[in-house]
Amino acid sequence: MTARIIDGKAIASKLRARVADEVARVKRDHGLMPGLAVVLVGNDPASEIYVRSKHTQTQAAGMASFEHRLPADVAQADLLALIGKLNRDASVHGILVQLPLPKSIHTETIINAVDPAKDVDGLHPNNAGRLASGFAALSPCTPLGCIILTRSVHASLEGMNAIVIGRSNLVGRPLLQLLLNENATVTIAHSRSRDLSKLTARADLVYAAVGKPELVRGSWIKPGATVIDVGMNRLPAADGKTRPVGDVAFTEALDVAGAITPVPGGVGQMTVACLLVNTLRAACAIAGLPKPGV
Ligand code: NAP
Repeated sequence: MTARIIDGKAIASKLRARVADEVARVKRDHGLMPGLAVVLVGNDPASEIYVRSKHTQTQAAGMASFEHRLPADVAQADLLALIGKLNRDASVHGILVQLPLPKSIHTETIINAVDPAKDVDGLHPNNAGRLASGFAALSPCTPLGCIILTRSVHASLEGMNAIVIGRSNLVGRPLLQLLLNENATVTIAHSRSRDLSKLTARADLVYAAVGKPELVRGSWIKPGATVIDVGMNRLPAADGKTRPVGDVAFTEALDVAGAITPVPGGVGQMTVACLLVNTLRAACAIAGLPKPGV
Protein backbone atom coordinates (compact mmCIF):
# COMPACT_ATOMS: atom_id res chain seq x y z
CA MET A 1 0.00 0.00 0.00
CA THR A 2 1.23 3.51 -0.70
CA ALA A 3 -0.43 6.15 1.42
CA ARG A 4 -2.24 9.11 -0.06
CA ILE A 5 -0.21 12.25 0.61
CA ILE A 6 -2.30 14.92 2.31
CA ASP A 7 -1.40 18.14 0.51
CA GLY A 8 -1.27 20.70 3.32
CA LYS A 9 -0.06 23.37 0.92
CA ALA A 10 -3.13 23.07 -1.33
CA ILE A 11 -5.58 22.76 1.59
CA ALA A 12 -4.06 25.82 3.32
CA SER A 13 -4.19 27.79 0.09
CA LYS A 14 -7.92 27.03 -0.32
CA LEU A 15 -8.56 27.96 3.31
CA ARG A 16 -6.74 31.29 2.90
CA ALA A 17 -8.83 32.01 -0.20
CA ARG A 18 -12.05 31.32 1.78
CA VAL A 19 -10.84 33.63 4.56
CA ALA A 20 -10.11 36.35 1.99
CA ASP A 21 -13.64 35.99 0.57
CA GLU A 22 -15.18 36.29 4.04
CA VAL A 23 -12.97 39.27 4.91
CA ALA A 24 -14.16 41.00 1.73
CA ARG A 25 -17.77 40.24 2.74
CA VAL A 26 -17.51 41.62 6.29
CA LYS A 27 -15.75 44.72 4.96
CA ARG A 28 -18.42 45.28 2.32
CA ASP A 29 -21.49 44.42 4.40
CA HIS A 30 -20.43 45.63 7.84
CA GLY A 31 -17.48 48.01 7.31
CA LEU A 32 -15.36 45.71 9.49
CA MET A 33 -11.61 45.53 8.79
CA PRO A 34 -10.17 42.60 10.80
CA GLY A 35 -6.71 43.38 12.20
CA LEU A 36 -3.95 41.15 13.57
CA ALA A 37 -1.10 42.44 15.75
CA VAL A 38 2.01 40.28 16.02
CA VAL A 39 4.57 41.01 18.72
CA LEU A 40 8.13 39.76 18.22
CA VAL A 41 10.62 40.06 21.08
CA GLY A 42 14.26 39.62 20.07
CA ASN A 43 15.48 38.32 16.72
CA ASP A 44 15.35 34.54 16.81
CA PRO A 45 15.83 33.60 13.11
CA ALA A 46 13.00 31.00 13.05
CA SER A 47 10.59 33.46 14.73
CA GLU A 48 11.59 36.16 12.21
CA ILE A 49 10.57 33.82 9.36
CA TYR A 50 7.20 32.98 11.00
CA VAL A 51 6.42 36.64 11.71
CA ARG A 52 7.24 37.65 8.13
CA SER A 53 5.01 34.90 6.77
CA LYS A 54 2.15 35.89 9.11
CA HIS A 55 2.47 39.53 8.00
CA THR A 56 2.43 38.67 4.27
CA GLN A 57 -0.46 36.22 4.55
CA THR A 58 -2.56 38.53 6.76
CA GLN A 59 -2.25 41.32 4.21
CA ALA A 60 -2.93 38.92 1.33
CA ALA A 61 -6.21 37.94 3.04
CA GLY A 62 -7.22 41.62 3.04
CA MET A 63 -6.78 42.13 6.79
CA ALA A 64 -4.75 44.79 8.57
CA SER A 65 -1.40 43.57 9.87
CA PHE A 66 0.42 45.35 12.70
CA GLU A 67 3.96 44.29 13.59
CA HIS A 68 5.59 45.24 16.87
CA ARG A 69 9.27 44.44 17.33
CA LEU A 70 10.89 44.76 20.73
CA PRO A 71 14.53 44.14 21.70
CA ALA A 72 15.45 40.87 23.43
CA ASP A 73 16.27 42.78 26.63
CA VAL A 74 12.90 44.59 26.80
CA ALA A 75 11.53 44.94 30.33
CA GLN A 76 8.53 42.72 31.04
CA ALA A 77 6.60 45.81 32.17
CA ASP A 78 7.12 47.42 28.74
CA LEU A 79 5.89 44.29 26.97
CA LEU A 80 2.83 44.21 29.25
CA ALA A 81 2.19 47.89 28.51
CA LEU A 82 2.23 47.16 24.76
CA ILE A 83 -0.21 44.26 25.21
CA GLY A 84 -2.48 46.52 27.28
CA LYS A 85 -2.43 49.08 24.46
CA LEU A 86 -3.28 46.42 21.86
CA ASN A 87 -6.08 45.08 24.09
CA ARG A 88 -7.65 48.57 24.04
CA ASP A 89 -7.01 49.26 20.32
CA ALA A 90 -10.31 48.88 18.41
CA SER A 91 -8.50 48.25 15.11
CA VAL A 92 -6.80 45.15 16.57
CA HIS A 93 -8.93 41.98 16.80
CA GLY A 94 -6.17 39.42 17.20
CA ILE A 95 -2.97 39.58 19.26
CA LEU A 96 -0.21 37.05 18.83
CA VAL A 97 2.95 37.20 20.93
CA GLN A 98 5.51 35.10 19.09
CA LEU A 99 6.91 32.32 21.29
CA PRO A 100 9.40 31.43 22.62
CA LEU A 101 10.07 34.60 24.61
CA PRO A 102 13.48 35.43 26.10
CA LYS A 103 14.18 33.76 29.46
CA SER A 104 13.90 37.10 31.29
CA ILE A 105 10.18 37.26 30.44
CA HIS A 106 7.61 35.15 32.31
CA THR A 107 5.68 33.59 29.42
CA GLU A 108 2.61 32.67 31.48
CA THR A 109 2.20 36.29 32.66
CA ILE A 110 2.30 37.48 29.06
CA ILE A 111 -0.19 34.87 27.83
CA ASN A 112 -2.55 35.81 30.69
CA ALA A 113 -2.30 39.52 29.82
CA VAL A 114 -3.80 39.13 26.33
CA ASP A 115 -7.54 39.89 26.16
CA PRO A 116 -9.12 36.40 25.74
CA ALA A 117 -11.40 37.83 23.02
CA LYS A 118 -8.26 38.71 20.99
CA ASP A 119 -6.26 35.60 21.92
CA VAL A 120 -5.91 34.18 18.40
CA ASP A 121 -3.21 31.76 19.58
CA GLY A 122 -5.83 30.17 21.87
CA LEU A 123 -3.38 29.91 24.75
CA HIS A 124 -5.12 32.07 27.37
CA PRO A 125 -6.47 29.90 30.21
CA ASN A 126 -10.00 31.24 29.50
CA ASN A 127 -9.88 29.83 25.99
CA ALA A 128 -8.06 26.62 27.02
CA GLY A 129 -10.65 26.11 29.80
CA ARG A 130 -13.59 26.82 27.52
CA LEU A 131 -12.22 24.37 24.94
CA ALA A 132 -11.73 21.73 27.66
CA SER A 133 -15.33 22.32 28.81
CA GLY A 134 -16.67 21.83 25.29
CA PHE A 135 -17.67 25.51 24.93
CA ALA A 136 -16.97 27.73 21.93
CA ALA A 137 -13.41 29.10 22.17
CA LEU A 138 -10.53 30.44 20.15
CA SER A 139 -8.48 27.24 19.68
CA PRO A 140 -4.74 27.00 19.03
CA CYS A 141 -3.97 27.17 15.32
CA THR A 142 -1.82 24.06 14.79
CA PRO A 143 -4.37 21.63 16.32
CA LEU A 144 -7.14 23.34 14.32
CA GLY A 145 -5.06 22.73 11.19
CA CYS A 146 -4.61 19.06 12.18
CA ILE A 147 -8.38 18.61 12.38
CA ILE A 148 -8.95 20.25 8.99
CA LEU A 149 -6.29 18.01 7.41
CA THR A 150 -7.89 14.91 8.95
CA ARG A 151 -11.31 16.02 7.76
CA SER A 152 -9.89 16.25 4.22
CA VAL A 153 -9.60 12.45 4.42
CA HIS A 154 -12.54 11.51 6.67
CA ALA A 155 -15.93 13.21 6.48
CA SER A 156 -16.52 12.21 10.11
CA LEU A 157 -14.12 11.23 12.91
CA GLU A 158 -16.90 9.86 15.08
CA GLY A 159 -15.94 6.68 16.91
CA MET A 160 -12.45 6.54 15.43
CA ASN A 161 -9.52 5.62 17.68
CA ALA A 162 -7.01 8.48 17.77
CA ILE A 163 -3.65 8.76 19.47
CA VAL A 164 -2.06 12.13 20.15
CA ILE A 165 1.62 11.77 20.98
CA GLY A 166 2.69 14.88 22.92
CA ARG A 167 0.78 16.84 25.58
CA SER A 168 1.98 20.44 25.18
CA ASN A 169 -0.44 23.34 25.71
CA LEU A 170 0.33 24.47 22.16
CA VAL A 171 -0.47 21.23 20.34
CA GLY A 172 -1.19 17.96 22.17
CA ARG A 173 -3.70 19.07 24.83
CA PRO A 174 -5.91 21.28 22.61
CA LEU A 175 -5.78 18.61 19.88
CA LEU A 176 -7.12 16.09 22.40
CA GLN A 177 -10.07 18.42 23.11
CA LEU A 178 -10.77 19.13 19.43
CA LEU A 179 -10.77 15.38 18.70
CA LEU A 180 -13.21 14.81 21.56
CA ASN A 181 -15.44 17.49 20.03
CA GLU A 182 -15.31 15.42 16.82
CA ASN A 183 -16.48 12.38 18.86
CA ALA A 184 -13.22 10.46 18.36
CA THR A 185 -11.96 8.14 21.11
CA VAL A 186 -8.64 9.64 22.15
CA THR A 187 -5.50 8.33 23.80
CA ILE A 188 -2.90 10.94 24.72
CA ALA A 189 0.71 9.80 25.11
CA HIS A 190 3.82 11.55 26.41
CA SER A 191 7.38 10.88 27.48
CA ARG A 192 6.28 8.69 30.41
CA SER A 193 3.85 6.56 28.36
CA ARG A 194 4.61 2.84 28.20
CA ASP A 195 4.45 0.75 25.03
CA LEU A 196 4.03 3.69 22.68
CA SER A 197 4.34 1.39 19.67
CA LYS A 198 1.43 -0.78 20.88
CA LEU A 199 -0.72 2.26 21.72
CA THR A 200 -0.04 3.66 18.25
CA ALA A 201 -0.85 0.36 16.54
CA ARG A 202 -4.46 0.58 17.81
CA ALA A 203 -5.08 4.01 16.31
CA ASP A 204 -7.01 4.86 13.15
CA LEU A 205 -5.67 8.42 13.50
CA VAL A 206 -2.09 9.11 14.57
CA TYR A 207 -0.96 12.62 15.57
CA ALA A 208 2.76 13.00 16.32
CA ALA A 209 3.63 16.25 18.14
CA VAL A 210 6.82 15.43 19.97
CA GLY A 211 9.83 17.16 18.43
CA LYS A 212 11.87 13.95 18.07
CA PRO A 213 12.93 13.19 14.49
CA GLU A 214 11.33 10.01 13.09
CA LEU A 215 10.31 8.71 16.51
CA VAL A 216 7.18 7.01 15.12
CA ARG A 217 8.21 4.03 12.99
CA GLY A 218 6.30 2.54 10.10
CA SER A 219 6.00 -0.76 12.01
CA TRP A 220 3.96 1.04 14.74
CA ILE A 221 1.24 2.16 12.35
CA LYS A 222 -2.01 0.29 11.79
CA PRO A 223 -2.44 -0.47 8.07
CA GLY A 224 -4.63 2.20 6.48
CA ALA A 225 -4.35 4.67 9.39
CA THR A 226 -4.27 8.42 8.79
CA VAL A 227 -1.02 9.97 10.05
CA ILE A 228 -0.68 13.68 10.83
CA ASP A 229 2.91 14.65 11.50
CA VAL A 230 3.24 17.91 13.46
CA GLY A 231 6.98 17.57 14.14
CA MET A 232 9.42 20.02 12.61
CA ASN A 233 12.98 18.80 13.09
CA ARG A 234 16.19 18.84 11.11
CA LEU A 235 18.61 15.98 10.42
CA PRO A 236 22.01 16.12 8.70
CA ALA A 237 21.74 15.79 4.91
CA ALA A 238 24.14 14.16 2.44
CA ASP A 239 25.32 17.57 1.15
CA GLY A 240 26.56 18.55 4.62
CA LYS A 241 23.52 20.78 5.21
CA THR A 242 20.36 19.74 7.06
CA ARG A 243 17.00 18.50 5.85
CA PRO A 244 13.57 18.95 7.46
CA VAL A 245 11.99 15.83 8.97
CA GLY A 246 8.92 15.19 11.04
CA ASP A 247 8.30 13.02 14.09
CA VAL A 248 7.28 10.13 11.81
CA ALA A 249 9.65 8.00 9.72
CA PHE A 250 7.94 9.12 6.53
CA THR A 251 9.27 6.59 4.01
CA GLU A 252 8.45 3.66 6.29
CA ALA A 253 5.00 5.04 7.13
CA LEU A 254 4.19 5.64 3.46
CA ASP A 255 4.04 1.86 2.89
CA VAL A 256 1.57 1.23 5.74
CA ALA A 257 -0.61 4.31 6.29
CA GLY A 258 -3.74 5.11 4.30
CA ALA A 259 -2.97 8.84 4.27
CA ILE A 260 -0.09 10.90 5.62
CA THR A 261 1.07 14.51 5.82
CA PRO A 262 4.56 15.28 4.50
CA VAL A 263 7.12 17.48 6.27
CA PRO A 264 7.40 20.10 4.93
CA GLY A 265 4.13 20.73 3.09
CA GLY A 266 1.74 19.32 5.69
CA VAL A 267 0.73 20.76 9.05
CA GLY A 268 3.13 23.73 8.93
CA GLN A 269 1.20 25.30 6.05
CA MET A 270 -2.06 25.10 8.01
CA THR A 271 -0.92 26.93 11.13
CA VAL A 272 -0.82 30.43 9.60
CA ALA A 273 -3.99 29.76 7.58
CA CYS A 274 -5.79 28.90 10.85
CA LEU A 275 -4.38 32.04 12.47
CA LEU A 276 -6.21 34.01 9.76
CA VAL A 277 -9.38 32.03 10.49
CA ASN A 278 -9.07 32.83 14.21
CA THR A 279 -8.47 36.53 13.53
CA LEU A 280 -11.57 36.73 11.34
CA ARG A 281 -13.64 34.84 13.94
CA ALA A 282 -12.36 37.10 16.74
CA ALA A 283 -13.15 40.23 14.70
CA CYS A 284 -16.72 39.06 14.01
CA ALA A 285 -17.28 38.07 17.66
CA ILE A 286 -15.96 41.42 18.95
CA ALA A 287 -18.15 43.30 16.44
CA GLY A 288 -21.20 41.25 17.51
CA LEU A 289 -21.56 39.64 14.06
CA PRO A 290 -22.48 35.98 13.47
CA LYS A 291 -19.62 33.47 13.17
CA PRO A 292 -18.14 33.79 9.66
CA GLY A 293 -18.59 30.99 7.15
CA VAL A 294 -15.05 29.72 7.63
P1 NAP B 1 6.91 20.36 23.39
O1 NAP B 1 6.25 21.47 24.12
O2 NAP B 1 8.38 20.15 23.54
O3 NAP B 1 6.15 19.01 23.79
C1 NAP B 1 6.64 17.77 23.35
C2 NAP B 1 5.75 16.68 23.90
O4 NAP B 1 6.29 15.44 23.44
C3 NAP B 1 5.73 16.62 25.43
O5 NAP B 1 4.40 16.40 25.86
C4 NAP B 1 6.61 15.41 25.76
O6 NAP B 1 6.19 14.67 26.88
C5 NAP B 1 6.39 14.55 24.54
N1 NAP B 1 7.52 13.64 24.33
C6 NAP B 1 8.85 13.91 24.38
N2 NAP B 1 9.56 12.79 24.14
C7 NAP B 1 8.68 11.80 23.96
C8 NAP B 1 8.79 10.43 23.68
N3 NAP B 1 9.99 9.84 23.52
N4 NAP B 1 7.68 9.69 23.56
C9 NAP B 1 6.45 10.25 23.70
N5 NAP B 1 6.27 11.57 23.95
C10 NAP B 1 7.37 12.33 24.07
O7 NAP B 1 6.67 20.48 21.81
P2 NAP B 1 5.45 21.15 20.98
O8 NAP B 1 5.51 22.62 21.06
O9 NAP B 1 4.19 20.44 21.28
O10 NAP B 1 5.92 20.75 19.50
C11 NAP B 1 6.05 19.41 19.10
C12 NAP B 1 6.62 19.36 17.70
O11 NAP B 1 5.72 20.01 16.83
C13 NAP B 1 7.96 20.09 17.52
O12 NAP B 1 8.73 19.42 16.54
C14 NAP B 1 7.55 21.45 17.00
O13 NAP B 1 8.56 22.06 16.23
C15 NAP B 1 6.38 21.05 16.14
N6 NAP B 1 5.41 22.13 15.93
C16 NAP B 1 5.03 22.37 14.67
C17 NAP B 1 4.10 23.35 14.41
C18 NAP B 1 3.69 23.58 12.99
O14 NAP B 1 3.10 24.61 12.70
N7 NAP B 1 3.93 22.63 12.10
C19 NAP B 1 3.57 24.10 15.43
C20 NAP B 1 3.93 23.81 16.75
C21 NAP B 1 4.86 22.81 16.97
P3 NAP B 1 6.25 15.27 28.41
O15 NAP B 1 5.05 16.17 28.51
O16 NAP B 1 6.14 14.06 29.25
O17 NAP B 1 7.54 16.01 28.52
